[in-house]
Amino acid sequence: MIIVLKPHSTPEAVDHVLKRIEELGLTPHLSQGVARTVIGVIGDESKLQVEPLRALPGVEQVVPILKPFKLACREFHPEDSVFEVKGVKIGGGHLAMIAGPCAIEGEELLYETAVKVRDAGANILRGGAFKPRTSPYSFQGLGEEGLRILRRVGDALNMPVVTEVMDPRQVELVARYADVFQIGARNMQNFDLLKEVGKVKKPVLIKRGMSATVKDLLMSAEYVLAEGNREVILCERGIRTFEDSTRNTLDLSMVPNSKHTSHLPIIVDPSHATGRPELIPAMARAAVACGADGVHVEVHTCPEKALSDGPQALLPDQYARLMAELRRLAELLGRTIDVCEGVTA
Ligand code: PEP
Ligand code: MN
Repeated sequence: MIIVLKPHSTPEAVDHVLKRIEELGLTPHLSQGVARTVIGVIGDESKLQVEPLRALPGVEQVVPILKPFKLACREFHPEDSVFEVKGVKIGGGHLAMIAGPCAIEGEELLYETAVKVRDAGANILRGGAFKPRTSPYSFQGLGEEGLRILRRVGDALNMPVVTEVMDPRQVELVARYADVFQIGARNMQNFDLLKEVGKVKKPVLIKRGMSATVKDLLMSAEYVLAEGNREVILCERGIRTFEDSTRNTLDLSMVPNSKHTSHLPIIVDPSHATGRPELIPAMARAAVACGADGVHVEVHTCPEKALSDGPQALLPDQYARLMAELRRLAELLGRTIDVCEGVTA
């Protein structure tokens, strides 16, 4: 249920409504937009009666929300959510340009790649320290040493960093080094993990599971939001279909689809979606054109030697050419690509 307050309600009126909800044993979630204050009420719906709530001073409307993702839905937060990480805004017309290698393999290599993607216009550096590999015999990542490298390189270049966390027991460790948590496709429905990152005040990038519906993804976001963490970024990275000429099938309709239903930013990862470098630029342009809030691309200086996902990596030069196109497209569409602190555009 959401409670829409009258425009210009006093802080006392808002407090009064919040207290009343708590007295009923329910949890209020406050959303203060520019024009409106909305309170989402989560809990046992049988305790919720519309009439007594409507009678509270300052209340304009009480609307039952039938969607199961109550905090992720647009009714709860009509404006696009915008988050900021180290000066880089994501959502509401600001594009997150995330780039870097699949896995962190060493400091020199990551630094070299990071300088190149940052100079090309990337505003968030990615790299995996804990890798969810299909085979237990494949490179599993450098673990904490990888996190340390990522942090040092991010700091040296003023780039916020995103990295995957695979297990609830790793959340505290990863939180010490990362600016943004990544929940991988394989863990999208690891509910204990979602609850754990929901307790930390850092943005969470949730990748769509390979056989998850839009609703499943929004329910996963809801797990994080319900714990009090409002900073969730969705990511379309392709789903499994009968098509086998690409690694996955990029579902671009997911972008306007989720934007219609949810206020959360959504970015697109054409690297894991296609698995083919020659298809990535076209899909990245299409992602920006259809309204995505950012693009996530894997880049490696020597794909043939990469320890993970080499065949889908773009070379830094290819990434720079793509970014030049995406910048022109963003300008045409009235979007902004923030640059990292200290970088001249
Ligand atoms: C990754 O980003 O390297 C990754 C493993 O992605 P996904 O979870 O989408 O497969
Ligand atoms: Mn990868």
